[in-house]
Amino acid sequence: MGDCIFCKIAGKEIPASLVYEDDQLVAFGDANPQAPTHMLIIPREHIPSLGHLDSGHDQLVGRALRLAAELAKGKGLGERGYRVVVNCGPDAGQSVGHLHFHVLGGRVMGWPPG
Ligand code: 5GP
Ligand code: ZN
Repeated sequence: MGDCIFCKIAGKEIPASLVYEDDQLVAFGDANPQAPTHMLIIPREHIPSLGHLDSGHDQLVGRALRLAAELAKGKGLGERGYRVVVNCGPDAGQSVGHLHFHVLGGRVMGWPPG
């Protein structure tokens, strides 16, 4: 937590292009975008990964997913579509140990992911 880059973004200790914030969630542009639209949604709470959620987080995660849909719609992606991704752990390529939801769109995406 003390040196967590996403906690620092949520606390405005380091800058990011914020697109949304409330008492529970913060959304901002990814510093290394993988699509024309690439936002990250994070909880303010330092949760290391998807695997660290408990039942007390159910409402938070529901809100995060609904926010993903709202932000994507706000970017004009509601009709053509978008992708919401959570990387969990080393095999998935999680590189920041603070739960985050990628919201990607603006180009056609392949499946399966690499
Ligand atoms: P992960 O690989 O953990 O699923 O995703 C971490 C994401 O955080 C990456 O897409 C990376 O580009 C982004 N990221 C890492 N550091 C920063 C930062 O300081 N600012 C912003 N805006 N994004 C970051
Ligand atoms: Zn954190």
